[in-house]
Amino acid sequence: MTHTFETHYADLRRRAVLQLEARRKECDALDPAFAALRAKRSRVFSMPAQGAKLTLSTLRLEEEALLKRYGLPKDYLMPSYACPLCQDTGYVGSPVKRKCACLLKLEQQNRVEAGRINEREVFSHFSDDIYPDEASLVNGRKILAYCQKYAETLPSPKIPQLYLFGQAGRGKSFMGNAIAARAIERGIDTLRLTAYRMTEEVMNGFSTNVSPLPRFTQVPLLVLDDLGTEPMIPNVTAEALFAIADQRNSGRLATVYISNLTKDGLRERYGDRIASRIMDENITRSIEFKGNSLRYFGEDDR
Ligand SMILES: [Zn+2]
Repeated sequence: MTHTFETHYADLRRRAVLQLEARRKECDALDPAFAALRAKRSRVFSMPAQGAKLTLSTLRLEEEALLKRYGLPKDYLMPSYACPLCQDTGYVGSPVKRKCACLLKLEQQNRVEAGRINEREVFSHFSDDIYPDEASLVNGRKILAYCQKYAETLPSPKIPQLYLFGQAGRGKSFMGNAIAARAIERGIDTLRLTAYRMTEEVMNGFSTNVSPLPRFTQVPLLVLDDLGTEPMIPNVTAEALFAIADQRNSGRLATVYISNLTKDGLRERYGDRIASRIMDENITRSIEFKGNSLRYFGEDDR
């Protein structure tokens, strides 16, 4: 398993532990009997094996009865794993371990996403030759260095959001692709899509009753390209974009927004509620792609 998937599972397990601790505290505030049960259980482990098993199941029944008295579910004091099958380890089976369905799914998503990335658009294909003049070359190298550092520090770069903007043909999408490609190479679950496809998938979600939004809002790296060119469908586009921008902003999740719109243009099109989350100066680095059109970026070099 790659390092990043391991981190993903470690995060999930940590979350389960924290949630359990919070529920324990909640129960302790209700009744001191909960703490007493826990103390009894910790003593069980110094008992002989046959007795221990019996005592544990008796204690378990006592706990369930106690929880029931307070109207709480009987598994309230068990860890709640995102995947109960593997208890958020990614593996099932003993003694022979095999990959859990949840890990296979993660890997599959990663492969699908890798297949969508244009393999020419990676950092190693960055070339000075594409810059028509010295000023854009200097600017381009600075942007490259920043984006590379961003990609290397994923999934938690110091500044989690990027807003890459400027006129068409300046290499914004190239950088977005290169970041996504490097993230995937590093085993980070990544989603790269255009705002147009984002809208389309949200629309499809209505007919299939499977909303794509949880994936859009939670994937560790989202690269949203061509923001501003998608159709503004009433009750769909702005709502979906707000959900994405708001949740990713508050979770400080790595997000790369790419657009032809200036900051003012973005505010004009989507309103302050959305724009303020995309361009939140506390967590967003805005990078303007300036200068003349680059010679080889774009459709003509395929
Ligand atoms: Zn699992």
